[in-house]
Amino acid sequence: MNGTVSMSLPEVHATAKALLLAQGFNQAHSDAIANTVTAAERDECRHHGLFRIPFYVSALLAGQASPDAEPTLTRLAPGIMKVDAHYGFSPLALERGDEPLAELAREQGIAALVVNNALNVAALWPEVERLAERGLVGFAYVSAAPYVAPAGGTKPLFGTNPMAFSWPRAGKPPLVFDQAASASARGEIQIRLRDGRELPEGWAIGPDGRPTTDPETALAGAQLPFGGVKGSSLALMVELLAGPLMGDALSFEAGERDKAATGAPCGGELIVAIDPARCIQNGNRAAQLAHAELLFEKILEQEGTRLPSDRRYQARARTAASGVTIPQSLFDTLQKFMKGQTVDRRPAYEGDALIRAAAGA
Ligand code: NDP
Repeated sequence: MNGTVSMSLPEVHATAKALLLAQGFNQAHSDAIANTVTAAERDECRHHGLFRIPFYVSALLAGQASPDAEPTLTRLAPGIMKVDAHYGFSPLALERGDEPLAELAREQGIAALVVNNALNVAALWPEVERLAERGLVGFAYVSAAPYVAPAGGTKPLFGTNPMAFSWPRAGKPPLVFDQAASASARGEIQIRLRDGRELPEGWAIGPDGRPTTDPETALAGAQLPFGGVKGSSLALMVELLAGPLMGDALSFEAGERDKAATGAPCGGELIVAIDPARCIQNGNRAAQLAHAELLFEKILEQEGTRLPSDRRYQARARTAASGVTIPQSLFDTLQKFMKGQTVDRRPAYEGDALIRAAAGA
């Protein structure tokens, strides 16, 4: 790596927003994407921070992402809302759907938000965290592009298919986990390619179907599900929930649609919210949340444990005070975007040319 650049969080947001505007996104999308990117940098989830900007811009310039689509909300059933992103990126559609979903969950006890036709290159924890901040239990599922071989197979078929869960806590930030169905997120492999680092064993196979620890071979081959057949079944479940269930694309179909190989798949996302107080007669939210705390305490009594999301909350406190650092090469790429220049958008396969461009290679 050739050095780093320090930025405050307001600078991250301002930089992201300005260059998204310069590349042609409207105010609402630029703001929503900048919010998502800044939250990822703030929580040190770097594969969804500024690193993702080339993917947003690439899909826009390839004519595959709308710069200005206004998401539309429709009530499909008593407990089901739909937000159609109309081929815009997901952050704006999710912002628009947040409060209507929470209101519906309070009214019905359980409610779902079906997100259609949204390009998604983000993490899922923001949407479920926002539900839990409103006192609700949240679940989110999204498919991606064909990157992962089914257990026993060697060809990419499933997306990395993340799933997220959130639980509200009294007087504390929510408990959230958000994990891919693959052994690693794709962004982690792309970042290791950029930084010249090997992969752990068990993450991927090459095009010849043999295990590899080389990021470039892995990106050309297939990622592996986590935990063998169990992760493979979860990836399968996410495909069905975020695709056929809501009339949207399977990962392999999203891959076919991504003609310019931008690495920004367009498909569906399912978000489910449950109001805990409606799950038991005369529900007492405070008692339910206090009951859950007993489990969290028992987990933390054991040395070596931590709760999912605690790392992010610690990072959040740190970066609010000290800002973040990003690779100089990424900063340079962002500066080019600011001037309306673009990176090479003709990858040999998804992510490769993008990541090399972001790395300044
Ligand atoms: P990680 O393996 O980094 O983390 C998965 C979860 O495990 C996190 O909630 C993390 O919490 C938690 N965790 C990690 N270590 C511990 C520990 N020691 N004890 C308890 N909990 C722990 O995530 P992935 O690589 O699987 O996925 C990364 C991101 O990529 C996700 O945000 C996902 O949404 C996103 N993604 C997006 C895709 C898309 O198409 N939009 C596709 C695939 C992935 P913590 O955050 O606190 O570390």
